[in-house]
Amino acid sequence: MSMPDHPRLIDLSADTATRPSEAMRLAICAAPVGDEQRGEDPTTLALEERVAALLGQEKALFLPSGTMANQIAFLVHCRPGDEIVCAENAHVFGSEGAGAAVLAGAQFRPIDTATGIFTVADVASRLRAPRHRSPHSRVIAIEQTTNRGGGRIWSEEAIGALKGLALEKGLALHMDGARLLNAAVVTGLPAARFAAPCDSVWIDLSKGLGCPVGAVLAGSAGFIEEALVWKHRLGGAMRQSGILAAAGLYALDHNVERLAEDHDNARRLASALATVPGLHVQPEGVVTNILFLDLAGTGVSASALAGVLAGEAIRVNVEGQNRIRMVTHLDVSADDVEVAGSAIIAALARLRPDQSGG
Ligand SMILES: *Cc1c(COP(=O)(O)O)cnc(C)c1O
Repeated sequence: MSMPDHPRLIDLSADTATRPSEAMRLAICAAPVGDEQRGEDPTTLALEERVAALLGQEKALFLPSGTMANQIAFLVHCRPGDEIVCAENAHVFGSEGAGAAVLAGAQFRPIDTATGIFTVADVASRLRAPRHRSPHSRVIAIEQTTNRGGGRIWSEEAIGALKGLALEKGLALHMDGARLLNAAVVTGLPAARFAAPCDSVWIDLSKGLGCPVGAVLAGSAGFIEEALVWKHRLGGAMRQSGILAAAGLYALDHNVERLAEDHDNARRLASALATVPGLHVQPEGVVTNILFLDLAGTGVSASALAGVLAGEAIRVNVEGQNRIRMVTHLDVSADDVEVAGSAIIAALARLRPDQSGG
């Protein structure tokens, strides 16, 4: 097992770094299973019913990944030539291999927004007049919480306003809810308050919830009926998927309220780092489990800092020349965060060009 001179990795690179706990593994072992592709896996069906209710939607569909959930939603909502309005830093725009273009034949109309949040006016100004030569505006896609926007939360009011525009203009409102439950825990609001107005919405099981695999896509009965066709076409239909769904049910019982610890840890880390001169952290903007460090004012490159930290068994995500992303999750403790914070402060002090002359 772990050697004393090889400390356990503190992995702040993503909340996908979680490993299933012993208790989750026991739940997986005990799961009743059947053939999911024939609709006969009782644990998968139970998870789907549970998530549909959680999100205030009629039906839900268990999928291998969140990426597939986004792609299936676009395949159902769009025809080739349609356009999806989203944030410029959205996962759907930059991190899914241009899947909407490849699969649904749709293109994006991105909105430049640092936080990933945008307004009704932002969307309205990007909708196309119906003309034979124009792309057909079809979907508004939002991320709850905003991953590369720093884990920011879309308010119920902002979502309601977008829904109003969507209804008026005949658009679908899609929520990439990879971290929707983080938003629910912070605000104390039921997830359905954010999710019910959406025409399609999904949660990821393999991020902060700590499951090994899976996402659950929800919507109206009609939407899910079409989504099921695409799930099969894309090869997402499974067999005894109850062993995966059991982890999801376990996580919904045990790993939701504890997301508050991740948020506390992220805020604590941000506050500790905010004392470093030249380091831009914005602790007041750290509302969930994601924080960005802007190193431009320190003269230290993101890769240099990440390299030093890697040598101390601390992993962070390099997002650009001066930008590092860190994400807290259930395999990162309050102590880990303290260790990481001290290591970052020490590394920056050593690496700073203005310190080298002594
Ligand atoms: C991780 C993530 C996805 C993709 O989910 P996978 O389950 O990894 O495919 C989509 N959107 C956001 C915002 C994410 O953070």
